[in-house]
Parts: sequence; structure tokens; C-alpha cells
Amino acid sequence: MAKGTLSLVGFSNESLNVNISSYGDTITVNNLFNTVKQQISMQKFSFLKQKLKSGFSQLPYLVKAFNLVWQAAKKWTVIWAILLIIQGLLPVATVYLTRQIVDSLVAALNVGVSQEKVIPILVLVALMGGVLLLTQVLGSFLSWVRVVQSELVKDYISYLIHKKSLEVDFAFYESAEYYDRLHRARQDAFFRPTALLENSGSLVQNGITLIAMAAVLTQFGVWIPAALLISTLPAFVVILNYSKQNYNWWLKTTADERRSWYYYYLLTEKDSAAELRIFELGDYFQSAYQSLRRKLRAEKVNLAKNESLANLGAGAIALLITAFALTWMVWQVLQKRVTLGDLALFYQAFNQGQTLMRSLLQNLGQVYSNMLFLGNLFEFLELAPQVIDPPTPRLAPKNLNQEIKFENISFWYPGSQKTALENFNLTIPSGKIVAIVGANGAGKSTLLKLLCRLYDPQQGKITWDGIDLRDLPIQNLRRLITVLFQQPVDYNASVAENIALGDLLATAKLPEITNAAEAAGAAEIIDRLPENYNTLLGKLFAGGVELSGGEWQRIALARAFLRQAPLIILDEPTSAMDSWAEADWLERFCHLAKGRTAIIITHRFTIARRADIIHVMSDGEIVETGCHDELLALGCRYAQSWKSQMQVN
Ligand code: ADP
Ligand code: MG
Repeated sequence: MAKGTLSLVGFSNESLNVNISSYGDTITVNNLFNTVKQQISMQKFSFLKQKLKSGFSQLPYLVKAFNLVWQAAKKWTVIWAILLIIQGLLPVATVYLTRQIVDSLVAALNVGVSQEKVIPILVLVALMGGVLLLTQVLGSFLSWVRVVQSELVKDYISYLIHKKSLEVDFAFYESAEYYDRLHRARQDAFFRPTALLENSGSLVQNGITLIAMAAVLTQFGVWIPAALLISTLPAFVVILNYSKQNYNWWLKTTADERRSWYYYYLLTEKDSAAELRIFELGDYFQSAYQSLRRKLRAEKVNLAKNESLANLGAGAIALLITAFALTWMVWQVLQKRVTLGDLALFYQAFNQGQTLMRSLLQNLGQVYSNMLFLGNLFEFLELAPQVIDPPTPRLAPKNLNQEIKFENISFWYPGSQKTALENFNLTIPSGKIVAIVGANGAGKSTLLKLLCRLYDPQQGKITWDGIDLRDLPIQNLRRLITVLFQQPVDYNASVAENIALGDLLATAKLPEITNAAEAAGAAEIIDRLPENYNTLLGKLFAGGVELSGGEWQRIALARAFLRQAPLIILDEPTSAMDSWAEADWLERFCHLAKGRTAIIITHRFTIARRADIIHVMSDGEIVETGCHDELLALGCRYAQSWKSQMQVN
């Protein structure tokens, strides 16, 4: 700070006054001086200091970002660094060669043109050509290296994001905050690290050139590099300030931004296309999208306008200082204190210095802003799951020999006020078909989610042959279970692949796949398809065939069957089937499930009837237990529901 002020004072005392008198431009120069003085006043410096401090708090991200780039593309990063250093030094060579050429030319012209005078000049010109050519070649090479590097980094980041998405708790997928984070991490993550790298690269390269240029300029007066620096400080402050403002705006608007994406999705995806047409929702969602966008756009435009104005002000200050330095140099020429070569060198160096300084500060601002944004990626990557493997896992069993027990389980969904299960107890004996029936919202699917450890209960424990599920490695536990979910995934892949996905470890062959399809009652459906097991399902890719809801469900059931797990859980397995298909399927399932333990979750009593044990569930509690006949004899809830369902059918 003190240095800046001092050199300015010297600036005003020596050359400034001379210039004023000789050009009669006192007012302008004084104004300029005052403006500059204002810009570097104490207040500005403390502001700058504060900005820099908050910038430094992001520094760990810089290290992380470099580490990330390094992990993704080691070799290319080394090449990139070497190229940058060479590129940083080349402009200085150009500047020096220019002076040599101009001075030699002037000397030659003074003495008279002769061969021995011209040849060295030609050599210099050739050298200059060489340097320029090298600059070009390295520039092209560098941009290619950047592409390679950024592609590698992008894919590496996708890998990290995918890995984390798979690793986080299932519960994360139910919080808006998670989606905000994911959105922020995903949206900008791809280009930010490479942008950061590029900015830092330019920063280094421009820094090298600038230091060299400053050294060149020092021979005309120490104040010149100082003036260069000061002229660009206002721009720097503007850049830092608006980086932060842009970032804060971005953080603030994530939810709106995501909502607008949601409307976009509704307007363009198949899932919603039919309803949009029937209920004529197109205009409704379109205007919702547009009005959100209008709001976001207005804010962004406003921010950009203010930034442009601030930049304009900062640019004007820089320009005034440049004008001033050039005036001074012309004065020096008029005084014959410098050669024409010096003038050429000065002009080039100062001009380049200005541009460099500007880009350097811009680079700094970009580095800062990219670091702010990258913070989100790293924040996302640092999300830690709660449902984790035990520190010392027990050996996972191969089978279910006795029973699964829910012991005094209390559970409520994260963020929910209501308990889904309270002091819940249930025993599932091995080798039996157990039905859990109950109205919607009774808590049936919740049992399944706890069994698979998609969630852990807040109280109580679930045991598998006496072992607490939390003492088993999660992966091993999940391999003991096969599930047909209430809303299974329709994979846009071939039929065979759709089924084989049930157990990738087993690398199922066609006979196993057809067996599973038979068991699920999907074989007839598949036989009718144009290419049978090779038919591509879903309409997402060319040549795909769409199935009905019930047909998709059977494919999913086949997938569940394929996995030879000791426990099979079916959540509303026949919800999309008609009752005829249901009865047919049921026979087969009971036959095939012999020897395995099965839990059938359903609200249809016609299915429950076949089960060895039926549990009736209501409001998170088991209210009746027994086989079909026992429950009918009991004459309570099950019996009543059974009667009313039989009348409907
Ligand atoms: P069902 O018996 O129909 O399968 P569920 O087990 O899905 O019922 O749901 C039991 C209760 O838990 C319901 O009251 C439901 O609203 C609530 N619930 C289900 N899933 C969630 C969730 N992800 N977050 C909060 N509450 C949930
Ligand atoms: Mg359910």
C-alpha cells in the first residue's frame, strides 16, 4: 500500500508537472490523480484485504481442484505446465527482438544500406518469425492438450458424482436439500475444474510474462510497472466483488432453478406427455416455466448490468493512467532521451503489460469464482452416509435357517413428524410364505425398506438368525434378499438383459433367464415379442418395444426370481395384473417358492389366502395373525375385508 502511494507521489512531482506545463492539460491530469488517489485510499485497501481474505478461505478447494485434475490426467497436466512456462516467456523474446530490429534498422539507415548491415537484420527478422511461429505452434498444441485434459477431468468428475450418488443414504433422495446440492454439484462441476485449471494456467503464464515485462519497463522508471499495477486495481476489486455476488445469487436461486428444470422436464418427457395432453396442462406448465425464468433472468440481467457499469468505471481509470504513461513516453522521445527502438519496445511492453495485467486480474477473479463454485462439488463429494458397514462385520450367513425378527422397532422417516412403526414386533420363520396385508399407508413397504437397510430404525433391531442386520456387511446382507419393488425400474434394454440384471454376479445364461421368466409368468409375453429375449424394451432407443404396466411388472418379477436369494420379497406383485392372471401366477409362485422364505406384501386378500402365515397390518401395527382359515374364523378385520373383496370379484 505504502509503495503504491509513494510512487504515485513521485510520479506527480517529477514527470507529471512537466507534462502538465508542456501540454496545458492540467485539469485532466489533476482529476486523474485524484481519482487514482481515491481508488487506493485506506478504505479501498481494507476492502481489498477483506476480499482477498475471503478468497483465501477458499484456498483448500484450489488444492483439491488441482488434486482432482491431477488424479484425472497426470501426464497431460505435466505437458500443460511445461507449455505454459514456455508460452509465458515467448512474448518477452518478441519484445526484445523488436527493439533489436528497430535499432539495427535505424543504425543501418544512418550509415547507409550495405550487405553486411542488412544480413544481421535479416537474421533478427528470421528469429522473430521463428518466435512467432513457435508461439502459434505451442498455442495450438496447448489448446489440444486442454481439450484432452478437460475431457478426462469431466469423465473423472462424473465418475466421482456417480460413485457418491450410489454411496449416499437412500434417505438423501428424499430431501430437497440433497437435490439442491446434487444440482449444484452436477450443473457446474464439469467445466469448473478445467476452467479453474485454465485460469490458473493463464494466471501463471500471464504472471511470468508480466514479471518479465515489468522488468523490461523498469529501465524507463520504476513508476511505470507500479502505474500498470495501480491502473488495474479498481478492475480487480470489481471482479472479486461481482464473483461473490454472482455466486451468492446462484446459491440463492438453486431451488427456483431446479423448479424451472422440473417444468422443463414435465414439458419434454414421456412420463408426463399423456397427462399434459388430456388435462391440457401444456400452457399451464409453460407459463409457470416462463414466469420463473423471467424472474431469474431479470435478476441475472440486473446483476450483469451493474457489473458492466462497474467494469466501465474501472476501465476508464485504467485508460487514463495509460494515456498518461504514453504522454510521458512521447515527451521522452521529444527530449531525445530514448531511441526509436526504445519507443517501440516501450509501446509494446506497456501495451502488452496493460492487457496482461487486465487478464491477470481477470484470471484471479475467475480462479476465485471457480473456487467458490467448486466448493459445492467438494461439499457434495464429502456427504457421508449414515447407513454404513459395521467396523467389525460378522460373517454373513449363506441362508436363512431359523427366522427374521423385528424386535421393538420404532422408526420414523427422516424429517417426518409421524412414526411409521412404533414398538413393532414381527417374526418371519424360514421356509414359509408370509403375507403382510393392510390398507395403503399401513407401513408394509416400510418393513421392506428396513429389511434391506435402505434405512436403519431409530430404535430396536432386526435380526437374521439372531444376528443384528447392522452387524453384517451391507452388500452381503443385500445379496441375501431379492425384491420386487412396488415401483420397479423399467430398464430400456433387451428382455434378456432386463432379467439378467437381477444377478450380475451369476452372469446368467439363457436357460436360467427363461426359467425366471417362466416363474414370473412372463414367458408368454416374451414369446409374443418380435425378437423374443433379444427384443429391446422401452421407447427411449431406436427399435424399442413398449410394454403395458402389468407386462413390465412381470419382467421385473422375473428379474427378482433370477437372483437365487434365500429371502424373496414381493411388494404388491400383482398390482398391475388382472385377477385371472393373478390366480394363475399365484399357483406358480407358491410352487416355485417352496424351500425359500417369501414375504408377499399386498393389499389384495385373494393373494394372502395362499400364504402359510398372514399378518394383517394397520397403522404401523400387526393387528391379526394366522392362516386364512384361522383369520376367517376370527371374524375380525381380515374376515370382513375378505368378504367385501370376494363380493367385488
Ligand atoms: P404401505 O403399507 O402402503 O406400503 P408405506 O410403508 O409405504 O405404506 O408407508 C407407511 C407410512 O409412512 C405412510 O404413512 C407414509 O405416508 C409414510 N411414508 C412412506 N414413505 C415415506 C417417506 N419416504 N418419507 C416420509 N414418510 C413416508
Ligand atoms: Mg407400499
